Amino acid sequence: MTFAELANPGILSQPVYEAGKPIETVARELGLDPAGIIKLASNENPFGPSPKALAAAQRALAEVNLYPDGGYYAVREKLAAKYGLKMDQFLVGQGSNEILELLGHAFLAPGRECVMHASAFIVYKLVALLFGAKPVEVPLGPGLKQDLPALLAAITPATRLVCLASPANPTGVTNTAEEIDAFVRALPPHVVLVMDEAYAEFLDHAPDLRPAIAAGRKVICLRTFSKIYGLAGLRIGYAYASAELIALLQRTRQPFNVSSVAAAAAVAALEDDEFLARCRRENRTGLAQLEAGFKALGREFVPGRGNFILVKVGDGPAVFDRLQRVGVITRPVKGYGLPEWLRVTVGTREQNERLLRELKAAL
Ligand SMILES: *Cc1c(COP(=O)(O)O)cnc(C)c1O
Repeated sequence: MTFAELANPGILSQPVYEAGKPIETVARELGLDPAGIIKLASNENPFGPSPKALAAAQRALAEVNLYPDGGYYAVREKLAAKYGLKMDQFLVGQGSNEILELLGHAFLAPGRECVMHASAFIVYKLVALLFGAKPVEVPLGPGLKQDLPALLAAITPATRLVCLASPANPTGVTNTAEEIDAFVRALPPHVVLVMDEAYAEFLDHAPDLRPAIAAGRKVICLRTFSKIYGLAGLRIGYAYASAELIALLQRTRQPFNVSSVAAAAAVAALEDDEFLARCRRENRTGLAQLEAGFKALGREFVPGRGNFILVKVGDGPAVFDRLQRVGVITRPVKGYGLPEWLRVTVGTREQNERLLRELKAAL
């Protein structure tokens, strides 16, 4: 008998997650100098971590002999003040990806369904399959736009979760606050909307689902410190929802699911408004720079509002490969059913220039 025959069926149906390759790996595989490689593959912050968060993390390191505060009081207190919600409406996780998994623990099982768009962030599907639930993928509309009425129409009595991101990844498309609001109002009472707000901080006016939560709608919003705050390597994110839903999810997590270093960094990052404003500004400039560059190359792109752009290059994997050989790591999105496209993270001005130069040569 093999281990696979003994394993839970859910894990056998798991596709392998294709992460962006680390710089060191690419350098080793291609014999390149790591210092000459740029990574625009995983929507990381090109300006590094928030300096305040970095200093707090360094201070916290001196006490890693102690377990973290498993209630994550300081983070939740800071979040409650920032959002004007109660502390018991927040849950912290090892990245928002862990919270997606906790939602699976709480709501997904064989016979249940999780509704999402086609080409949505792959983790939604991975979590559904992990728990033996059925991922239901709804086609995107023209221009890769997310079709919320179609998402609604895909809900059945077996549906428990609907996952939606705006800006979405990898497409970068957004839905308006009005569209999202109408969608939330139309949700049947046996379904929880998982609103993935991983890129919300890059928007000038992110849709605000706090009133819907206050009105008793079944919505949970996920946020992360991995993107605009520049703390992807520390693995911390959070969710806000009704206190009742958060209490349920608290039961599904490990007592110390987030490290003390990550928690300390997160508190300081939440105080670093200056860094946030600068990154938002730089990102807007970088998006415009890349869009202008793609236009000059005569390439179609999806005008996204996150910190990345989807650009049509023809043979995505081939162009990805050519770029990687010259030390520019991007993300092919063939695995998302978008073989003609590449996803490019907005870098610094110099990184964007280099990407555009190398892309021109690679096409
Ligand atoms: C990056 C990203 C996340 C955040 O993942 P973490 O686990 O917090 O690093 C969540 N959702 C989407 C759509 C993302 O792109």
